[in-house]
Amino acid sequence: MIAEPLPLPPLAAPDWRHQWRDAVRDPRQLLALLGLDAHAARISDAAAAQFPLRVPRAFVARMRHGDAADPLLRQVLPLDEEDRIVPGFGIDAVGDTAARTAHGVLQKYRGRALLVATGSCAVHCRYCFRRHFDYAGDTAAAGGWAQAIARIADDPTIDEVLLSGGDPLSLATPKLTELTDALARIPHLKRLRIHTRLPIVLPDRVDDGLVAWLHALPWPVTVVVHANHANEFDGAVDAALARLRDAGAMLLNQAVLLRGVNDSVDALAALSERGHRAGVLPYYLHQLDRVQGTAHFEVDDTRAIALHRALAARLSGYLVPRLVRELPGDPGKRPLV
Ligand code: SF4
Repeated sequence: MIAEPLPLPPLAAPDWRHQWRDAVRDPRQLLALLGLDAHAARISDAAAAQFPLRVPRAFVARMRHGDAADPLLRQVLPLDEEDRIVPGFGIDAVGDTAARTAHGVLQKYRGRALLVATGSCAVHCRYCFRRHFDYAGDTAAAGGWAQAIARIADDPTIDEVLLSGGDPLSLATPKLTELTDALARIPHLKRLRIHTRLPIVLPDRVDDGLVAWLHALPWPVTVVVHANHANEFDGAVDAALARLRDAGAMLLNQAVLLRGVNDSVDALAALSERGHRAGVLPYYLHQLDRVQGTAHFEVDDTRAIALHRALAARLSGYLVPRLVRELPGDPGKRPLV
């Protein structure tokens, strides 16, 4: 009798670090993968040199083949529109420099300290408000977190720490543990917030190690993810978000209102509804920070407010994000409505 061959085990997805290294970094390669080679003339090599393209293949897989107007593609492709110098668009639109109180620590609002944990991101979003930030000279992880920890420990008014960046979940889990072990020794901390796009763009980052780390944290944890369009969600993202929820995290989404990506009532409603299906409530809809190279994404305030009103008329209140703008020196995000 001939033995039946044993079934092969299913192919495991490569681990997230492999996927990270395997990200697409060449704009022309990205267009070729999407069958859009004919659009290469619109690429700006200057913009790509200043802020390189980077996009995980898991995110590319959610872009529509052959659609140059795809809302996910538009968020990552360096186009010649970025080369335009537009008055009023600078390199520090939200006043990060003035808010710096220690190496990698920004304090803008009462009770909160934001740690620029790292400069790395899995994806480079063309509209990013920190695309000109000097990460090389200023991340909190440098020097084993010492300056950042000392600053937070010295200020008893700080009860919430925000991990931001860059993307804090781009740090290896042992590095995150090193940070939170040190923070846990500061008695006045009550909450931890994590701002991250990784569960959306590279959902395999939410692995067993990360979930175990979250579970063990001594504070209530809020994870604020960042998705701008319903098409950014898929089954793998849903699973990653479910794991974060199971680990005890509250999940919120912040989005940026972006021309050509989500500037319609239909797109915004679909984003809120799709996020809710994945267990994420909308938090903020940000007006674009006026950063050099991003003017082509701007939606003017009159239209933004009209879109927001229409959204509020269509959806349940808890599905309507707050429309806000961040301005240097303000005591909080400024609501537009
Ligand atoms: S993930 Fe966030 S910090 Fe990183 S490029 Fe995108 S918007 Fe900027």
